[in-house]
Amino acid sequence: MSIVFMDYRISCAKCGRRQPETAFRCASCGSILEVSYRGRGKLLRQDRGKPISRYLDFLPIGNLYVELGEGGTPLKRISSGEFKDIGLFLKLETGNPTMTFKDRGSAVEISKAVELKMRAVCCASTGNMGLSVAHYARQAGMRCTIFISKDANAKKIEKIRRQGARIVEVKGDFNKALNEAEAFARKTGAFLCGDYHFRKEGQKTLGFEVVEQSGKEMPDYVFMPVGNATLFSGVYKGLTEFKKAGLVEQIPRLVAVQSEKCDPLVSAWLKKKKLSYVRPRTEADAIAVGYPTFGFEGIEAIRKSKGDAVAVAEKEIEDAVMGLERFGVYAELGGGTGFAGFLKYYRENPAKLKGKRVVVVVTGNNEGVFREQ
Ligand SMILES: [Zn+2]
Repeated sequence: MSIVFMDYRISCAKCGRRQPETAFRCASCGSILEVSYRGRGKLLRQDRGKPISRYLDFLPIGNLYVELGEGGTPLKRISSGEFKDIGLFLKLETGNPTMTFKDRGSAVEISKAVELKMRAVCCASTGNMGLSVAHYARQAGMRCTIFISKDANAKKIEKIRRQGARIVEVKGDFNKALNEAEAFARKTGAFLCGDYHFRKEGQKTLGFEVVEQSGKEMPDYVFMPVGNATLFSGVYKGLTEFKKAGLVEQIPRLVAVQSEKCDPLVSAWLKKKKLSYVRPRTEADAIAVGYPTFGFEGIEAIRKSKGDAVAVAEKEIEDAVMGLERFGVYAELGGGTGFAGFLKYYRENPAKLKGKRVVVVVTGNNEGVFREQ
């Protein structure tokens, strides 16, 4: 595979100061960072089984050194009488190596860690990202430490341990684990994985695939579950880059979905208020994030795409997960939350969706809650 040196820079999302490759927050103001590219990217020829390499021109790495079969997931058409007045498609991220979309971001992050000759990585997680990072780090021969809440899903913690990662159980929620992971990275020099700029770059490839798989029939709406809003804001960022490169004409309306029991982004959008911390009480552990890292960017993505946000009841999430099973699709609660949001939005706004093409992202099935019971 050829090495592409795309001209990119990493800078602070707030004050704009340029940052080194190893930074994960702005040294001056502490804000999160972002990657920007000079020029228009091109699509590369797709290697078999390496779908993300096609987008290397839009990624801040010289090469994908660790590709384990992530990406290239199906966009499945749903033909059902219930939804006969819309074109409904499911983007099935359960097809990734650790069964969640997190693998897209891990491929980019661990490739960056290889490029920087790092020997150890660390990460805070609610469960799925930890498993994904542990899987990729193991394949790259790196030590891995995962910070996770003591209250996280025990089955997920055990899976991460089986990938050879060291687990640090944190008293507190995801945001507490995040602070500890950052402190550990500063102290030990381990490469910090997680909801930061490199991961966001990997996760935006989901949006690229939706564009390519839709061809001339671009979706009008894309529904996604939101935890840290890395995927949500990343997909928006990717679509704007595709637009700049002339690869897509119109950006779909992006709809953010959260549980009513953990809805900081949705309530900030609906009440037109600043984002504020919410204590997570949802059973959908993959999206149990009280203060989304990319919350501001997520709200911007809704506004600029003329999208929307919807919060769903826990019971609606469970029903949606079971509803997906009728189409042969299995999701964990967080993974099926986008579908729950779509069902509610369709019920409450039938005129808005009538005649439209709708993509719902099924983000993961790490736990297989219903299948294993
Ligand atoms: Zn700054």
